[in-house]
Amino acid sequence: MKIHQHAKAAEEFIKDDARTHWHDDTLWHVRQNRDKSAQGIPEWETLRDTASATKDYVLSHIDELLVQFEENAKANGVEVLWAKDAEEHNQHVYNILKENGVKNIVKSKSILTEECGLNHYLEDKGYDVVDTDLGERIIQFAKQAPSHIVLPAIHLKKQDIGEIFHDHIGTNKGAEDPQYLTEAARQHLRKKFVQANAAITGVNFGIAETGGFVVCTNEGNADMGTHLADIHIACMGIEKLIPRAADLGVFLRLLARSATGQSITNYSSHFHKPAPGKKMYIILVDNGRTKQLGREDFKNSLKCIRCGACMNTCPIYRRSGGYSYNSTVPGPIGSILSPGIDLKKYSTLPFASTLCGSCSDVCPVKINIHEQLYKWRQFITENGEADGGKKLAMKLAGYTFGKPVLYDLMGGLARKALKFTPDSLVYSSLNVWGKHRDLPDVPKESFKEWYQKNRKK
Ligand code: SF4
Repeated sequence: MKIHQHAKAAEEFIKDDARTHWHDDTLWHVRQNRDKSAQGIPEWETLRDTASATKDYVLSHIDELLVQFEENAKANGVEVLWAKDAEEHNQHVYNILKENGVKNIVKSKSILTEECGLNHYLEDKGYDVVDTDLGERIIQFAKQAPSHIVLPAIHLKKQDIGEIFHDHIGTNKGAEDPQYLTEAARQHLRKKFVQANAAITGVNFGIAETGGFVVCTNEGNADMGTHLADIHIACMGIEKLIPRAADLGVFLRLLARSATGQSITNYSSHFHKPAPGKKMYIILVDNGRTKQLGREDFKNSLKCIRCGACMNTCPIYRRSGGYSYNSTVPGPIGSILSPGIDLKKYSTLPFASTLCGSCSDVCPVKINIHEQLYKWRQFITENGEADGGKKLAMKLAGYTFGKPVLYDLMGGLARKALKFTPDSLVYSSLNVWGKHRDLPDVPKESFKEWYQKNRKK
């Protein structure tokens, strides 16, 4: 397995300086919208505490709640299937499509199906899966993966989208008016909705008490797909449960505000049972979740409701782009989930953080993301997966900091040497830190020396 180097991938993104700034500013704007919206309701922190406690309850009772959910969903006339991994999930979807003679499929946004690689799997079997979320359709045309879990095409500008639409749905060359492009996408997707025999959706919340589930979208595309097609396949990670219908309001109030600053998603659609003559399936997917649940330090990551707020606030994500993480879920939450999936491959992700804690501060379900990032770093280092150069540098630094005489000596030497070292050496290719930064002027003395001279004054 090839180790993914976050810093190297980030270098690719920041080559385009203008895009880096635009990406940073756009996501910061979304973060500010979140702040305004959260500050608009005095009970915000109570909502976060309640959501966090509810999800804690779910994680500690997940066995009972899943059985309760399954029983109630079956009683509603829904067929429930279980998948231990991505392969089994994809196989279930394929079997359902085959059994029901499905030809045309529409799909609304689902991170889980991205995680399972469902589109590629079905395409290999000869199916054409049409993503109906506008952002997802754009990146599907461009043969790209989502770079953000809520705003999948956030790395593209309207000019890029104009070109993509010109190539795929015949919009005017050079057109970049968002209203024109959106209308063209709407007309294109309407035809796909009408032709579809099956609609695949994700699940935002599965309610154990009722066996029903809720899908949140801003475009109504999940509703359009499921209402027109005869088959509805809902793909749900097992951690998406909430115990009672009464818990739902708390999460709905938190989700959209945290994601975009909206008070609620435009469509929060409740599904309970198939309409007469139609079929509804729910596939409950593990794919590594129970393993993560067994990791005491990291199980809280399963509380995530995929709002994307931790990405919008993260100074590293905003300036390195979603693709630099090379995982389905990027950003801070991705950096604590991905090492649990493949420690070797994703061993650099927990280091892609300033550990400022902003991710934990905005998280609506109060996941201690920055603490888990720090714990993953320790785990990765103890298990020999940390970068060799970095490990050696940290060892030397630790040794030096632990010996005051050596520290003073090295500090004095460095101050002297830096005065005479030419810039070509100080800012050589070995000094990655210095690529975009200047060192401050070298001080005459250390703080310790200054303090000893001045403390009595
Ligand atoms: S970790 Fe928290 S802030 Fe990040 S996506 Fe999940 S719920 Fe949102």
